Amino acid sequence: MMNHQEVQEKIPLYVAGELPAVEVAELEAHLESCESCRHELEEFRKMEEMLAPLRLPDPPDELWDGYWSGIYNRMERRLGWMLFSLGAIVLLFFGFYRLVEGMLADPTVPPLIKWGVLFIGGGLAILLVSVIREQLFHRKNERYREVRR
Ligand SMILES: [Zn+2]
Repeated sequence: MMNHQEVQEKIPLYVAGELPAVEVAELEAHLESCESCRHELEEFRKMEEMLAPLRLPDPPDELWDGYWSGIYNRMERRLGWMLFSLGAIVLLFFGFYRLVEGMLADPTVPPLIKWGVLFIGGGLAILLVSVIREQLFHRKNERYREVRR
């Protein structure tokens, strides 16, 4: 017969289904009569369940690294571009606003014209930023292709 210590040492193998049949029988016999070992088994299974999501089948390391760095890079770049674009749009629009400030303050200019001018300014700022983005993106892609060759 197994004693407590032997049983508790073999619980991980038992749970993993890697214990020889003879030992399984002995272990189960002990469990039937021993509450503290049953409790131990219970605890071990709970822990296994909690850890299960952390050790899903490992894909090859290379794939895994590429996957995560790919996701991370994409997120980082997207955030970078978002902040850059937002900042550039705000600055360009502010510059444009300063240019037409006098006209906007002029009470003789109809409000519709003022709105029109503001929309043109906003549109120009966004277009400029998207052109700059495109230029930078293309240059980066070309450099990448050179590296790959
Ligand atoms: Zn026991």
